[in-house]
Amino acid sequence: MSDMKQYVEDVLALVKQRDPDQPEFYNTVREVLGSIIPFLEKNPQYKAAKMLERMVEPERIVTFRVVWQDDNNETHINRGYRVQMNSAIGPYKGGLRFHPSVNLSILKFLAFEQVFKNSLTSLPIGGGKGGSDFDPKGKSDNEVMRFCQAFMTELYRHIGPHVDVPAGDIGVGGREIGYLFGQYKRIRDAYDSAVLTGKGLTYGGSLTRTEATGYGLLYFVKNMLDDKGDTLQGKTVVVSGAGNVAIYAIQKAQEFGAKVVTCSDSNGYVYDSEGIDLAAVKKIKEVNRGRISEYVKYRPNAEYHEGCRGVWGVKCDIALPCATQSEIDLDSAKLLIANGCKVVAEGANMPSTLEAIEYYLQSKILFGPAKAANAGGVAVSALEMSQNSERLSWTFEEVDERLKGIMANIYRNAKKNAEEYGDPDNLVMGANIAGFKKVAEAMLAQGMV
Ligand code: NDP
Repeated sequence: MSDMKQYVEDVLALVKQRDPDQPEFYNTVREVLGSIIPFLEKNPQYKAAKMLERMVEPERIVTFRVVWQDDNNETHINRGYRVQMNSAIGPYKGGLRFHPSVNLSILKFLAFEQVFKNSLTSLPIGGGKGGSDFDPKGKSDNEVMRFCQAFMTELYRHIGPHVDVPAGDIGVGGREIGYLFGQYKRIRDAYDSAVLTGKGLTYGGSLTRTEATGYGLLYFVKNMLDDKGDTLQGKTVVVSGAGNVAIYAIQKAQEFGAKVVTCSDSNGYVYDSEGIDLAAVKKIKEVNRGRISEYVKYRPNAEYHEGCRGVWGVKCDIALPCATQSEIDLDSAKLLIANGCKVVAEGANMPSTLEAIEYYLQSKILFGPAKAANAGGVAVSALEMSQNSERLSWTFEEVDERLKGIMANIYRNAKKNAEEYGDPDNLVMGANIAGFKKVAEAMLAQGMV
């Protein structure tokens, strides 16, 4: 085993020994470190500086109690978190997730990914992630508001426009960001617009932020296909999820001339052979906060299937997982490829297991890993911060143009590094090396951090 391979194995063993109960975190560290060995071999200064050991240790983790009352005056206690992973290139930046599955392993995995993703955007933002095991599903607006206020009553002391700037993620959309911002402003008695991103347009939000992750994903796919002399026109696309990322991925895929035939939620998926009716999905999910099973009321010819896994058995040219982590395991990856899928690009964070990713790479399909393909959301969040500091609002077209430029740049950067380190189509390695380089260089320059 080479020296650097041994170094990576030692750091992985350290991660496992320190936190044996954090499988998601361990897996993402394994994915990143395992793929940057060629870079470490050419740059031994990072081993000497113990850079990997530093990077796998969050700069700070805050956990706190969140006490709130439901509409029947019953008291509930949830757990709140903020993982401040790395501030080498800018203030911590990354979303808040409200979902019953939230725990430290999931947030550390998301925060670790975020560090390299944010670096790839080429904007000055560090990496963090936070959230709570609170489930907004089925709660009234007032309950969600009381929870958000209680959550921010503690979180406010740990964030700020130059310190840490949270945004949305699963279970945290425009409504939640509004309540969180209102409470922060009340406590601080100051209008710090850039303390949160994903804000409403009437109070400092950026045009295109809502669409950014989904649109950015499709811009990334377009770049991958352009390089092969191909287009999205006429392609059949399978999408999972029916939330923020999925909805705007479907919209942009349709604008590019593709036919999207599925979407899903955590109960099941719909298959519409004539192409998903996005207006119906928006009505169900954005307006009524309902279940995707209702889709067949709008499109009687469509099919609804209980359970999420089946979506990967639908024949397609392109698969865009946009729901959550570990949606595609090895069996699903095999099924997709056996059915003719040629492109997988990740809208969600870590939707493919490590084994599925290895299978994509072996099969030589085009694969856009999450930290590159879904970086559009955080990139536009950083543009929202810029607009807030300038006290200006850019037009939709202006932000969208910048988003296109950023996604093209991320693609080129990942591709260039993949070529330079000897595996030209391996964008996992290319994106990880490109993201890692900048953070590692900044950390080294800053001394013992
Ligand atoms: P939303 O809450 O808007 O939507 C999430 C969607 O995924 C819903 O359809 C939800 O269904 C489904 N889902 C959630 N958990 C599960 C589960 N355990 N099994 C199956 N389906 C599930 O979240 P977003 O669209 O914002 O986020 C989706 C993914 O994209 C996440 O991985 C997130 O980290 C990632 N991401 C989001 C960004 C953003 O800008 N929003 C930026 C970059 C990445 P249900 O309604 O039933 O829960």
